This record gives sequence, C-alpha cells and structure tokens, in this order.
Amino acid sequence: MNDSTATVADLKRIVQEFVSERKWEPFHDAKNLSTAIAIEAAELMEHFQWLRSEELPAVRDDKEAMKEIRAELADITAFVLSFAETMGIDLSSSLVEKMKRNAIKYPVDRFLGRFR
Ligand SMILES: [Mg+2]
Repeated sequence: MNDSTATVADLKRIVQEFVSERKWEPFHDAKNLSTAIAIEAAELMEHFQWLRSEELPAVRDDKEAMKEIRAELADITAFVLSFAETMGIDLSSSLVEKMKRNAIKYPVDRFLGRFR
C-alpha cells in the first residue's frame, strides 16, 4: 500500500480497526484527538528544533532521523483520520473546499513566490 494506491477510506479503516480491536472508541473523542494531533505535531517539530535553515536539507539524508520523522507524521495522520471519523468529517471534500478558499485568499498574481 502506498499513496498512489491507498484511498483515504482505506487509511480510515486501518486506523478504525486498530482502535476498535482495543475498544478505544471512548477515548477517541474530539478533545483527546485534537490534543493528540497537537502533541504529535510538536513531536515532529522536535526533530527540527534548533536546526539552522542551511542544516535542513541534510535531514533527508539522515536515515535514523527520517525513520522517526515518518513515524511522527504517521502518528499525526492516524489521529487526523480518527478525528475525522469521530466528527463525521469527509477529509477529501474538506481539503478541496479549503484549498479553493485559499486560492481566493492568495491569488497567484499577488502571491507568486511570496506569502505576504
Ligand atoms: Mg509520536
């Protein structure tokens, strides 16, 4: 399974099976999951804390660091998927909707190569 073959529904099912097998549904409420997303995001950020901009590209060549970064990103993704499931949110349509709003907010002719 990879990004080219998996669907969001596949990923949601994998996470929900894991949660369900352990009867963890009562713990996967909106408060706990939104908190978990933030905590896992902080764990991801730890890998880049104190690095200077010029040191960032080397992270991709560090196999051990990349293994941990992938794991943190997977943690975030699992909690995002579970949050979406708990709240009845369709991730794909939410993302497309938000990107359309972002495109209006940040038109290419005004924001090409800059974010202010
Ligand atoms: Mg983690």
